[in-house]
Amino acid sequence: MQTGLIERRLYLDIDKTMVDPRKIRSNFTIALAEHCSVSRKKIQQLTRKYLDGLEDSTKFDPRELAEHISARLRKKRTKERAFPSEDLAAIILDPLRVVGATYDDVGVLGRVRRELFASGIHLGIFSQGVGYWQEHKLQHSEIDLNLFEGKLFEIHPDKLSSDVLDRIPAGSAIVDDKEVVVETLAEQRPDIHAIWINRNSKEISAKNGVHTIFSLDELSPLLRRLWLGTDQPTQPK
Ligand SMILES: [Mg+2]
Repeated sequence: MQTGLIERRLYLDIDKTMVDPRKIRSNFTIALAEHCSVSRKKIQQLTRKYLDGLEDSTKFDPRELAEHISARLRKKRTKERAFPSEDLAAIILDPLRVVGATYDDVGVLGRVRRELFASGIHLGIFSQGVGYWQEHKLQHSEIDLNLFEGKLFEIHPDKLSSDVLDRIPAGSAIVDDKEVVVETLAEQRPDIHAIWINRNSKEISAKNGVHTIFSLDELSPLLRRLWLGTDQPTQPK
């Protein structure tokens, strides 16, 4: 790296920040119901039961859900499994389920990167969940992964653990939809810019050090303010 060239990292969460997991769930619920010739409600109930058994929704694992459903849909007379777990997993993991689940404003990230490129912006992922499932959603979403740097992919079972947080340099910005995440960041790493994306209401975080946005469209002016102390583009138009 050249001396004097500042690296400024922008990390983005995946679920409910860039991709709507409810849309993906709705897509695979429809497909599973069709494949198994049961009602969507039945698949929803089985999924709910599986989710209720998890300590946290970020522990969701499609292969575990497939196993859960496979074990409960039995043939009437023989009580054998009607559908092998692997078949159900393949349906959930069909890339088609992810199509259309990316929020429209994710399209602005190319512009954010261009506008702040000369100011040293680097894009990364800051995600909590089961690794292969998070990567699957990224790969098959409409997110342009060319904008991101592979070495800045932080996908962990617990992203707020100190060994993960220790790798995030001071001055980085992190966007997340979960209030508890941005509030914890503001407390534990006040040298990081915690940005709450609230897609559900007009509420603004009252927490000191947390910046609230309602759409990724607001990211570019906010980052210019946080990183450069100005709302104006640094390059003449
Ligand atoms: Mg999230």
